[in-house]
Amino acid sequence: MISGALKNKRAFAALFLLALFLFCAIFACTAEGGGEMAGMAADPTPEPPTPQPILVSLGDPVPADTAVPAPTLPPTPTPEPTPTPVPTLDPNGKYIALTFDDGPNGKAGYTKDLLAVLRKYEVKVTFFVVGYKLETERNMEALREAAADGHEIGNHTYDHANLSKYSDEGIRKQMARTNDAIEKIIGYRPTLFRPPYGESNQTVRAFAKSNGMAVIMWDLSTHDWYHEDAGKTFAAVKKDAHPGSIILMHDSVKSSAEAVEKIIQWLHGEGYTIITVGELLRLRHGEIKPGTQYRHGVPAG
Ligand SMILES: [Zn+2]
Repeated sequence: MISGALKNKRAFAALFLLALFLFCAIFACTAEGGGEMAGMAADPTPEPPTPQPILVSLGDPVPADTAVPAPTLPPTPTPEPTPTPVPTLDPNGKYIALTFDDGPNGKAGYTKDLLAVLRKYEVKVTFFVVGYKLETERNMEALREAAADGHEIGNHTYDHANLSKYSDEGIRKQMARTNDAIEKIIGYRPTLFRPPYGESNQTVRAFAKSNGMAVIMWDLSTHDWYHEDAGKTFAAVKKDAHPGSIILMHDSVKSSAEAVEKIIQWLHGEGYTIITVGELLRLRHGEIKPGTQYRHGVPAG
């Protein structure tokens, strides 16, 4: 009995103390006016924080709730590639052609000097080359360079031959061997032939025709090979140049490489556009007829 009563007393005291502790704890919390625990107990699912509109926080003057959606932009059309303009030549324009015979001159570098000037002024000319000169590496290199720069390459016989003194077979050999030599170096056969000394005949024209070549003379000789004077070469051009002229010079002559810069500047100043012989003939005739002989922008008759 005694031990049972004692046990009940202890249990009662323990319960009383526990109850007192809980009471104090709850009272203390509510007395703070709703602390975290009380708030959580009263509202276990608090409102999520209102998200701050990003635009406002970034200083955008337009409030988020009044911001209008960004207008849908029309799709950007894919730009059409701009076609490279094809240079058109005005048939009534002032055109003129410069031609250089007897090269290439690789040893003394005249052809390379000339090419540098032509590159500077973006001028394309026509070279009539001699076959035997294409046997040396330096001359081959000069020819490759001229072709790579876009200049026109023509045939001027293999041995700089006066064809009036050759047999028909000899003429054909002189012309064919040079075509072969040119093709071997630049990869294509020329379509223009110029006979040394202007010595042409029926055999020359017939061979040219059967090999797709026109025969090209000139109507303005600078006589540069004769006087070897840059001033006189320039003076000859100034005196006789006219639209459609085919001007004869030589890149085997040092003074011509020296004169050409002044000649180009003067021709440009006079309103000329310098083009190749092939361009000049196609411009005036629509085509170049193999076997036909030309000495100017118009047929030689
Ligand atoms: Zn010549």
